[in-house]
Parts: sequence; structure tokens; C-alpha cells
Amino acid sequence: MTNQTFEQLKKTYESGRTRPLAWRRAQLNALRRLVTENRDAFVSSAMADLGKPAAETVLMELNLVAGEAQFVRNRLSLWTARHPKAMHWMLQPAAGWTIAEPKGVVLIISPWNYPVLLALEPMADALAAGNAVCLKPSELSPNTSKLLAELVPQYLDSEAVRVVEGGPKETGELLKCPFNHIFYTGGGHVGKIVMRAAAEHLTPVTLELGGKSPCFVDRTADINVAARRIAWGKFTNAGQTCVAPDYVLATSDVIEPLAGKIAEAVTRFFGSDPQHSDSFGRIINARHFDRLTALLPDPKSPATGRTVCGGNTRRDDLYIAPTVLLGVKPDALMMQEEIFGPILPILEVADAKAAVEFITARPRPLAAYAFTGSKRVRRMFEREVSCGALGFNLPLGHLISSWLPFGGVGASGMGSYHGKAGFLEFSHVKTVVGKPAVPDTLSLVYPPYDGLKKILISAVSHTPRVR
Ligand code: NAD
Repeated sequence: MTNQTFEQLKKTYESGRTRPLAWRRAQLNALRRLVTENRDAFVSSAMADLGKPAAETVLMELNLVAGEAQFVRNRLSLWTARHPKAMHWMLQPAAGWTIAEPKGVVLIISPWNYPVLLALEPMADALAAGNAVCLKPSELSPNTSKLLAELVPQYLDSEAVRVVEGGPKETGELLKCPFNHIFYTGGGHVGKIVMRAAAEHLTPVTLELGGKSPCFVDRTADINVAARRIAWGKFTNAGQTCVAPDYVLATSDVIEPLAGKIAEAVTRFFGSDPQHSDSFGRIINARHFDRLTALLPDPKSPATGRTVCGGNTRRDDLYIAPTVLLGVKPDALMMQEEIFGPILPILEVADAKAAVEFITARPRPLAAYAFTGSKRVRRMFEREVSCGALGFNLPLGHLISSWLPFGGVGASGMGSYHGKAGFLEFSHVKTVVGKPAVPDTLSLVYPPYDGLKKILISAVSHTPRVR
């Protein structure tokens, strides 16, 4: 079945159907309509999958997909045009240029935490680049997966865009096919499976992975604003956001007031009982609920951490309260793996230098944040912390822009997308060169290298290459 899907998409791609800009623009317009005309259905499916508040689905998923589709659509002529480049003087008269061509048939494998955004935003970039697309949504968000499988053929060209539902087995079957690009979003363990399978066909991959995104706060920061923004970045989607602050590193002079103010922000956002707030989501499933609750400190053993707010859980409702912790040790289990839930440990560090050392001693994160008024500290982070993206006084900001590339580095992934970066990720940038046949000025460089040529070659042997 999956092989048949691939063969059919390949046939469509090879027919040239997906190449004209008119086709691409029509698909991008249809993608916008798909999300705007089915707003309520997506809100209901994300609610059923994740208890996601309607406003979060609209703001953080549907609007971003519609915005991305429009952004790339409006710039297609520019991005697909020839871009002239200089040629070496020895080849003159000659011309050179680059042109972006589609990669071909691409596979997009998406996760459950932003089940619409992370399926359809890469889809917008892949369609803009003129590819045929196979989308495999996550089986862990089955309501949204089913909705996508129903709606995509109603809006997009079903000869060129297909949705394959399923889990590891179906994905494994798809991965056997010689796609021209694989775009995977999810955890690093499966990222390795994807990359191994891709190696078999020398298929290029984009891996949008996760990891522990740190957040530093010092006394020069506006603590009220920092607390509110950290609470928003962390507890949106119940902490199940790849670029959510995973943990906070705070200096000793701000750690207590910061923890108190984050707890205040939680009450302001979600009320005194977040379980009954319409603005707070749920954990995706019981497996992740159990994984997260096992990370919570043991109340009988204060050395494992002190709860500033939250800590209460309800398994039958997959509810974990927004939880802020102090006194968690760097070697605690929750500091060894990505938390990916509404639990925020705040650890003490001596200063910005110690924070940078703490961060750089660990795998490179998808995002890092620093709340500080100090220009020197901001420069230090920019220079020394290698991460997918860096946010000063702003978590999640880069996720929300079609102007900025979004992607990881090292353990947090490879490649990037959104806007032009996404268009290029799904394109091959082809170099084209040309030279008139007459006069044949190349005769100057043809062998044999004797007489005048010998003198000429030794005279120019130190001339740098012109770029
Ligand atoms: P997931 O379980 O939904 O898996 C992701 C995809 O991989 C799904 O489509 C799933 O069907 C497929 N898959 C699962 N097991 C597989 C296997 N054995 N073989 C082949 N395919 C398989 O999502 P997840 O991995 O739980 O996602 C959470 C992780 O993703 C977190 O680490 C998070 O930080 C990261 N993430 C990253 C981004 C980003 O943009 N960089 C965005 C969201 C999530």
C-alpha cells in the first residue's frame, strides 16, 4: 500500500504536474482554505487529542499554517527565478546562475504535540518548492490524523499529495521507499531510525528534534516580565512544546522571587485550580503521564526538590498541574532527559558564566533563552552557546515567524524550515553555466600547454578565484 502510494506520487511528479507556479499557488491557496474553513473541526480534534484550548489551536497552529502558506505563496516568483552569479574571467564571455528545482517526492513525518502545525507548515514549504508530498501524521493524535486524512484530499491535488495514517509499522514501510527528501519532526530516538533508513537510498533528511532548552535569568532582568513570559512559554500546550523552556538557571539573588512570581503568573493565567481552566491542556496519553509523574520530587524526601506550586496530578483526566520546583539537583532524572510536560525545575547558578558552562557541557539545545538586562551577558550567550535559536527575554518567539529559519543543531536536529529556509530545504539549488560556442576563447586553455600558453599560465598562477 505505502509503496503504491510512493509509486503513484512519483508518477505524478515525473509528469511535471507539480512544477508550474500556478499549480503551487493553487495548492497554497487551498491549504489556507483548508485550515480557515475547518477551524472548528481542528479545534475539536486538538481538544480531543490533547485537551488543547481553542485559542491555542487557532493562534499557535491554524493561523501559523495560514500565514506560512501566504508568506511563501507571495514570494514564489522571486525564489524560483534565476539568480545570476559571476563567472571566472578565464571563461569569459560566459554566464552563470542558480535556480531552485523541486527535490521530487518528499515524505513528511509529523508528531502529536502540534498535530496541525507540524504536519501542514512543512507541507506549505514542500508545495511551494514544487514537490509531490506524502504526509504521515502521528498516531498519538488520532483525531487530528483522521481529520487530516479526510480533508487533505478534499482541498489539495490528490494525485500529488497523499496522507498515510499509521504508527511505527506504516512509517517503517514508507521509509523503505526511495523518497527524494524526508522531513521528520519528533524525538531523537526515531530520528536515528529515520536517518538510517534514509542512508539506504542516500535520501537527504531534515530532522526537527527536541532536547532540553535552558533559560537563564539574572538580577538585571525585569523579574515580573521574565516570570510571566517563562510561565507562558512553559505551560502553553501543558509544556509539550519542543522549544518550551525545559528548565531555568537563576542566580542566587533572583531564584526565590522568580519562583514565586512564576507561581503567581500561573494563578493569573489558569486560576487557583488549573484543572478547571479552559486555558490549560492535558498530557497526550497515559504513557507520557506516567513518565512525567515519575519525574516529580518525592514529598517524603525533600532532597529531591521543593514544590513551589502545582505537583498535583489526576491520571483519569491526564492532568498534571503547572508545577514549579526548587532544589532539584543537576543529576536528578528530570535533568537527564527532555521533560516535555508542565514541570519546571529552577536551579541555582553563580552567574552567567556558570550558566553558559552548564549549558555547553550538555547536548546542543533546540532553543536557549536568557532574561537579562546586561548587554555583556547577551553577547556571551550569542558567542558561546550553540543552539537552534537564541531568545533574549522571549521564549517561543522564533517559532512564530516565517522570516526566520527554524531548526536544531547537533542533538536537536539538522536542517531548518519556515519561509525561505523551508523553500530551500525542499529544493535543490542547481548551478547552471553557459558560454557562447563562437568565438572559442577556451582554445587559450586547451592543451598542449606550450609557447604563449605556458607564459600566460605562469603569469596568472597566483590570481585568486573570482567568486
Ligand atoms: P511521535 O511519537 O508522534 O513520533 C513522531 C513521528 O515518528 C510519528 O509520526 C510517529 O508515527 C513516528 N514514529 C514513532 N515511532 C517510530 C518508529 N519506531 N519508526 C518510524 N517512525 C516512528 O512524537 P514524539 O517523538 O513523542 O515527539 C516528541 C519529541 O519531538 C520531543 O522530543 C519534542 O521536543 C520533539 N519535537 C520537535 C519539534 C521541532 O520542531 N524540532 C517539534 C515538536 C516536537
